[in-house]
This record gives sequence, C-alpha cells and structure tokens, in this order.
Amino acid sequence: MGEHNADVVIIGASHAGSEFASRLRQGGFSDSVALLGAEPYLPYHRPPLSKAFLAGETTADQLLLRSAEAYGKALIDFFPSTTVDFIEPATRSLSLANGDRFYYRKLVIATGGRPRRLGIPGAELQGLHIMRSIADVDALRPAFKPGARLVIAGGGYIGLEVAAVAVKSGLDVEIVEFAPRVLARVAGPELSAYYEAAHRAAGVKFRLGVGVESFEPDTSNPGHVGGVRCADGTVLPADLVLVAVGLVPNIELAQDAGLSIGNGIVVDEFCQTSDPDILAIGDCTEHPLPFLGGKRVRLESVPNAVEQARVAASVLNGAPKPYNLVPWFWSDQYNLKLQSVGLSQGHDAVVVRPPRSPEGFVAFYLRDGHMIAADCVNSIIEFNVAKRLVTEKTQVDAAALADPAVNLKSLIPAA
Ligand code: FAD
Repeated sequence: MGEHNADVVIIGASHAGSEFASRLRQGGFSDSVALLGAEPYLPYHRPPLSKAFLAGETTADQLLLRSAEAYGKALIDFFPSTTVDFIEPATRSLSLANGDRFYYRKLVIATGGRPRRLGIPGAELQGLHIMRSIADVDALRPAFKPGARLVIAGGGYIGLEVAAVAVKSGLDVEIVEFAPRVLARVAGPELSAYYEAAHRAAGVKFRLGVGVESFEPDTSNPGHVGGVRCADGTVLPADLVLVAVGLVPNIELAQDAGLSIGNGIVVDEFCQTSDPDILAIGDCTEHPLPFLGGKRVRLESVPNAVEQARVAASVLNGAPKPYNLVPWFWSDQYNLKLQSVGLSQGHDAVVVRPPRSPEGFVAFYLRDGHMIAADCVNSIIEFNVAKRLVTEKTQVDAAALADPAVNLKSLIPAA
C-alpha cells in the first residue's frame, strides 16, 4: 500500500479537472498538483465522440485537451487509470481502488457523470451501448456498419447526433422517445420540429411519445439484443441499441464524505462545497446561476465546466472571482451547426425569424418582452447578436425581431 500527497488533488481528469489544473498554474500556483482519473487516457474532448470521432473523421489523439508534455511542463502530476473509492475529510485523504492513500490540502471533485441506464427487462443483453467515453465508441464501432439496424432510446442531443452519423454511415436508424417531441427537455417545440424534419429527410425514423418497455433477445444469437419493445407493444428489430436517456451525476464520493447533495454536489458561486477544504466543478455540481437570479441548476456543458474551472482556480490562487457565465451550448448534426444561448425554460413567447440561408433556423425566446434565450442554426450573426441581447435580458420588440428587414444589431441598446 503506497502513500502519496499533493497540495491540491483533483478527482476526475476530464474537461473540468484538466482545465482547472491548467488555470491554477496559469494563475501562479506553485505548490504540488495531482490530477487523478479513472480512465486510461489523457483528458480529452467528449463532444466529438458523438460527432467527428464516431464518424471516423478524428483520431483519439486529436481529441486530447492537452499533450502529455503540457502536463509535465506545468508540473501537474497525472495519474491515469486511478479510481478514488473514498474521501476521508477527517484525515484529508483519499482511498484509491488500488489500495493506495492520497493526502491533500485542498481537494477538487470533478467526477462528472455517467449515462443513465434503463432498468428494464433485457438491460443485461449484449449489443446495448452508451456514449460517454472513448471506450464506449470503441465498443460501438464493430457493430456500427452499413445496413445494421440501430435503435436509439432517447431523442436528446446525443441521440440525435449519433443518429446523424449513423444514417450517413448507412445504418438503418430509428429513435424512440418517451416525450412527444425530440429535444423536449432543452428546446422549444419549433426547434424540435426543425430537427425532426431534418432527420426524417435524411432517413431517420421516429417513434415519439412512447417509452421503451424491454430489450428483447435475438432468438438466433442468445444473449444478444434482437429488438426493442415499445410501450405500445411494437417490437422494433435491432442489431444494436444506443441508450441515450440522460446523465446521472457522479455524486457518491461526495455523498459518502458527508457533503451537501442536491441534484449534484452542492456548491456556491465560488465552487465551494459544504467542506471548507473541498471544491467541486463541472457536470457533477449543482450551483447558483446568476443569470437566473441565483436559482440553483446543474449544467452539462463544456462552457460550464470551463467556467467553474476558472472560478475554482481563482479561489485557490487567492483572488476569488465568482461564477459569471450565461449558459451556452452547441450541437453539430449533418451540416447543421446549432448554437444556443440562455435557458428557454419559462419563456412566454417564441419569435421565429426567417433565416438568411435555406438551412438556417433562428428562434428567440422571450419572457415579459425580455430576451432570455435563442437557438440559432447556421446563423452565426444572429447568434452573436442574441448573446448580447440574452446577456442583458434586453427588452425587445417581437415584431422587429421577426422582421428580416430589420437589422438585428439595431436592437442592441447603445452603451
Ligand atoms: P466528465 O467529462 O464526465 O469527466 C469526469 C471524469 O471523472 C471522467 O473521466 C471519470 O472517469 C472521472 N471519474 C469519475 N469518478 C471518478 C473516481 N471516483 N475516481 C477517479 N476518476 C473519476 N457539451 C457541450 O458543451 N457541447 C457539446 O456539443 C457536447 N457534446 C457532448 C457529446 C457527448 C457524446 C458527451 C458524452 C458529452 C457532450 N457534452 C457536450 C458534454 C460535455 O462533454 C461535458 O459537459 C463535459 O465533459 C463535462 O466535463 P466534466 O469534467 O465535468 O465531467
């Protein structure tokens, strides 16, 4: 049993953890820093997993956030394939799965999340896949072949992105979504309809408003999935299945250590948990969002992971700067680049502006006449203006927004 120690120890070597370590050094931190990650890889970008990486347009090396040399140069001790089993706040130490103990002065939890599983009959069958890591894509690849029948449970961003790559790769694709429309959790009905139409035009089939009841075994290949039974009794034949029904935050370590837990590890605007020596960042946290007047949220996005990494580094460098991000997000499907800003939940009006290009789409979401969110597809100019209007929650004239003859920039109030 070995013993290690570092002034700052980070659990989770992905976007939040890697960005935090790097920003800590950039801010002048000169004590020891250790980055511990369960995966065998250097920290990498996850967004391309369901896009260019799955399509075979990018290699695993090209996904890396930083090179091995960059960590070495910054004196960040990286421990791959290192799983933390327990945090012991009383002794400020961690038990590792390999039996070692790691002592810290300050701890940063950046454990992210894992795909939600469906606890239904047949969930143990082979041929069921998830999409969170390089290993998940590697496991999917052998079956990801032209002509294969892919059923995707879940019509969120990851399900749709995989569908786009799959149908372009010649697979037969059907999406089963419990809600009556795709992207129901994150977007307005107009954007859902736009994406559903784009996917249908590419050949993707949909079963909306119906849940998945069970995975059926393949009678000619025991132990392997052969179909997906929907709640209406239909059985969709499947050679492989992707389960893309959301994320479960990895909070167990924090919970067992007695930290406050809500819909994630509870932190304040400085990424501080209920233990003064422990911060938490990224997809695993629930934090107050100034944009929503301090309402607590858990966000699953790279911009959020990067912002919390910045905040936590500022705290440990002795110059705390609170969380200050207006949420934004992107998604790539076919040749459609979506950029979203703000959060549309709670809007009372949607203004769809005629796009400049035939494949574009622009929707602005208003509440009490103020812009709170926008979804822009292939519309970078509109997105850039929307960012300004959403950040300031600017009061806007809906008729002017909808009128393509009105220059959107003219709606930005003079400074
Ligand atoms: P994670 O990336 O989940 O990393 C957590 C790390 O902690 C993992 O490596 C895990 O192995 C490790 N870990 C967990 N527990 C332990 C433990 N006990 N011991 C050691 N290590 C542990 N975001 C966007 O903004 N735009 C997109 O287009 C987009 N597309 C996406 C597509 C896919 C397929 C996926 C999966 C995600 C996508 N995201 C996208 C989300 C984005 O990747 C996440 O928000 C981001 O990765 C969060 O980073 P994180 O470091 O908080 O958590």
